Amino acid sequence: MAPGTGDLTDLQKDIFAKISSNEVRELKRLLASKKIKMDFVDENGMSPLQHACYKGNKEIVQMLLDQGADVNACQHEHMYTALHFAALSGNAELCHLLMSHGARLTATNSVGRTAAQMAAFVGNHNCVATINNFIPKADIDYYVKPQGLQAEPMLPLHLAEQFHKFIMQVNVHPVRVCINLQGFPALLENAAKIQKVLESMRYREMTRGADTNEVMAFKYHYLNCVVAEVVKCQKRQEAIKTEKSEKSNEEKKSDVVELLIRRLLKCSKSDGLPEYQEAFLRESVREFPFRESTIFRQMVATLASTDPPSAVSVVSAAINGQRGFSDNAQTCVTCGEEKATKKCSKCKAVQYCDRECQRLHWFMHKKACARLGQSTANNGKLTDVEKKVQSTANDVQASVEIDAVTSTLKDIAVE
Ligand SMILES: [Zn+2]
Ligand SMILES: [Zn+2]
Repeated sequence: MAPGTGDLTDLQKDIFAKISSNEVRELKRLLASKKIKMDFVDENGMSPLQHACYKGNKEIVQMLLDQGADVNACQHEHMYTALHFAALSGNAELCHLLMSHGARLTATNSVGRTAAQMAAFVGNHNCVATINNFIPKADIDYYVKPQGLQAEPMLPLHLAEQFHKFIMQVNVHPVRVCINLQGFPALLENAAKIQKVLESMRYREMTRGADTNEVMAFKYHYLNCVVAEVVKCQKRQEAIKTEKSEKSNEEKKSDVVELLIRRLLKCSKSDGLPEYQEAFLRESVREFPFRESTIFRQMVATLASTDPPSAVSVVSAAINGQRGFSDNAQTCVTCGEEKATKKCSKCKAVQYCDRECQRLHWFMHKKACARLGQSTANNGKLTDVEKKVQSTANDVQASVEIDAVTSTLKDIAVE
C-alpha cells in the first residue's frame, strides 16, 4: 500500500511542489544540492517521475532520470506507469524519452490498458504513433553482431544509431523519408546493407508467432522501397553522367535524393495529383510479400475502391493507425508533417515545417504563389511587392492554378 504524505520529509514534499508548478530551475538547484533517492511516492502512490510525466515536462523528467529515477517503478493505486502519464499528457517526445530509458510498452493499468491505448482513448495520436513506432535498441543490436556463420555483421556498428533513428520515424510521407535519408548520408552509402537488414526485420516481424507485427513488417518493407527508389535514381543518374563526370561523387548523391523529392512532389497538369508519388506508393504496397496479411488486404481494398483516398494517406494510416479528423490547415505541403507552423511569406496560403521544406516545394509553388497571394490580399489592392511577385509569375509560361486555399496535397488543383 502506498504510504501517506505524513511519511514524506519536507524536502520530498518540496520536490513534489516544485514539479507540480513546473519550477525547473528551483528543482535543479534542489537536486544538485544533495544526493536524493527518487523512489518515494505521494498519497496516491505516485513517484516524482510520474508527476513530472503527468505534467508533460520533458526537462524535469530528464533531470529525474539523470538522478536515477526508475522508469518502470510503479506503486500507483491504479497501476499507471510513467509512460501512461506521459501518453496522457500528449507529449510525444516525452514518451520517446521514457522508452529510450527502457519504459515497458506492454505494462497495463488496473483496467488492462497499455499507455498507447490510453493515449488513443484521449485522442493523443502523436503519442500513439510514437509508442507504436518505437523500436528497442536490442532489436538493432542483433544486427551489429555476426550471427551464426556470418563473417561480419549485417549492419556495421557505426551505422547502428542512424539506422535506429531512421526506422523509428513516425512521419512516413515519402518526401520526409527522403529528407531524413539526406541527413544520414552514411546509410545511403551502405544502401545494399541497409536494404538487407530491413528485409530481415520485415521477415522477423511476420514470424514471431503470437507477437507477429504486420504493421512494423510493412513499415520496414516500405522504408526499404524508398531506399530502393533512391538507389534506382542513383543508377539512372550515374548512367547519364558517365560521359561528363566533372561533378564530385558527394554532390551527385545529394542531388539524386533531391531529384527524387522533386519527382515525388510534382503534380500532373491534368488532375493536380502527384502522379509519380501515387504510382510509387501503390507499387510499394503491391510488392509487400505477405499477401495473406490483414494490413495488405485492407490497403489493397482501399486503394481499389471507387474514389480512393491518396496512397500517401493509405500508407500513413496503415502504419500509424486511423487518425481522427485532424486540422489539415497546419500540414506541411512538402512532407506532410503535422503542426507545420511556417507560412509562405508571400501568399500566406501554404504551410511548411521550415525553410528547407519551402525550398524543396518552390518549383511547384512559385507559379501559384502570386495568385494565392492575390486571393488572400484585401480588396484585390496589391502592394508593390505583390505587384512585382505577380508580374514575375506572369512571365512563367505554364499556367498553374490552385483553386483552394488549403494545404492538403490532394486539394491542389492544376489547370
Ligand atoms: Zn515539411
Ligand atoms: Zn506562396
